[in-house]
Amino acid sequence: MAGTTNSPLPAGTANLPTGNPISLFSTFVHPSATQRVTDVLATTMLSEGRLVKEFESRLSSDLGMVNPAALNSGTSALHLAMEVAGVGPGDEVILSPQTFIASAICVVQVGAKPVFADIHYENGNINPADIEHRITPRTKAIMAVHWGGYPCDMAEIKAIAERHNLLVIEDAAHAPGATYQGQAIGSISDFTCFSFQAIKHLTTGDGGALCARDPEKAREVFRRRWFGIDRANSPVNEVGEREYDLSDVGYKYHLSDYAAALGLANLEGFWDRMDVRRARVQQYREGLQNVPGLTHFVHQTDRESANWLFGFHVENRLAFIRALKSRGVASSVVHDGIDKNTLFGGKRHELVNQRRFDETQIHVPLHDALTAEQVAYIVDAIKQGW
Ligand SMILES: *Cc1c(COP(=O)(O)O)cnc(C)c1O
Repeated sequence: MAGTTNSPLPAGTANLPTGNPISLFSTFVHPSATQRVTDVLATTMLSEGRLVKEFESRLSSDLGMVNPAALNSGTSALHLAMEVAGVGPGDEVILSPQTFIASAICVVQVGAKPVFADIHYENGNINPADIEHRITPRTKAIMAVHWGGYPCDMAEIKAIAERHNLLVIEDAAHAPGATYQGQAIGSISDFTCFSFQAIKHLTTGDGGALCARDPEKAREVFRRRWFGIDRANSPVNEVGEREYDLSDVGYKYHLSDYAAALGLANLEGFWDRMDVRRARVQQYREGLQNVPGLTHFVHQTDRESANWLFGFHVENRLAFIRALKSRGVASSVVHDGIDKNTLFGGKRHELVNQRRFDETQIHVPLHDALTAEQVAYIVDAIKQGW
């Protein structure tokens, strides 16, 4: 991934920028965060408590997440989803390779096998038409990764899952605030996993959330994020020990209050920032119409992307990257097919759309510090050719 620092870049002149290039990502920290976090430090109540609860209720009320449990990372959310979904040794989970390794590592962590399905070349999301023939008696779940924040074909995925009695797990690390046919991502599937890592939309430094639609499963998530102890129903007795009987394996995956304070600060103005991201994407798309060698991703109107990334396909990609770099603009594939890793079995040549995607996809800067002038500059830098 390219650098994550903010860049003090010049407004959109055609001049080459001096100083830092326009970075691909930035980390958003709301001005009120310092005070909020300082207040937590002053109370010395640092671990999971009142603010984690408040953060979770705001994730529900503001972002439409169902039963969100705040965790210490998106990877923890994926792993705990596997555990609570009952995915275990010998099971298989079908997912697309166009993602970060965390999506498949969690499958391996529970002793199961990631089975890769091909993607839509047009947007990098799993192609439902390539799922069904990969289902075996060992298949337990389908994982949908919303690449760059653009929601997968959830209706088709859900229909397949229902036909074969499979669970649906969403890796929505790129998609907080996205909607699919009017429904918030985080309210649709059996399990949805979010990341609050530093360069994601909403950061707690590191952090994540797991939404389980079934209230019973949600209770299990809350219990197993803290060793497997149900705190609310395990009173501390007179000799000073909590009374509980551990019945299954839990983890130390909870978020802490000082991190939740940062998350609460960053929820302020969340939708305004999402609007700005959408406007930047619109500006890119309008500015980059009919550019020879550049093909836009295809998006449908029944869903709203969270616009974590702005990507497209280019011919002669290395020349494109070098030309933009020489003009002070970062560009990156961010990730390409993770199936290539030895741990996941090595590159699958039959995934023809993934292999084409690996060759031509590219992303240019999109983040909360990116100005309209910078987008105009980048559009111009691209139109100069490569
Ligand atoms: C960031 C990310 C994760 C992991 O999130 P962390 O909070 O860093 O653990 C998982 N999946 C995808 C697709 C991601 O981009």
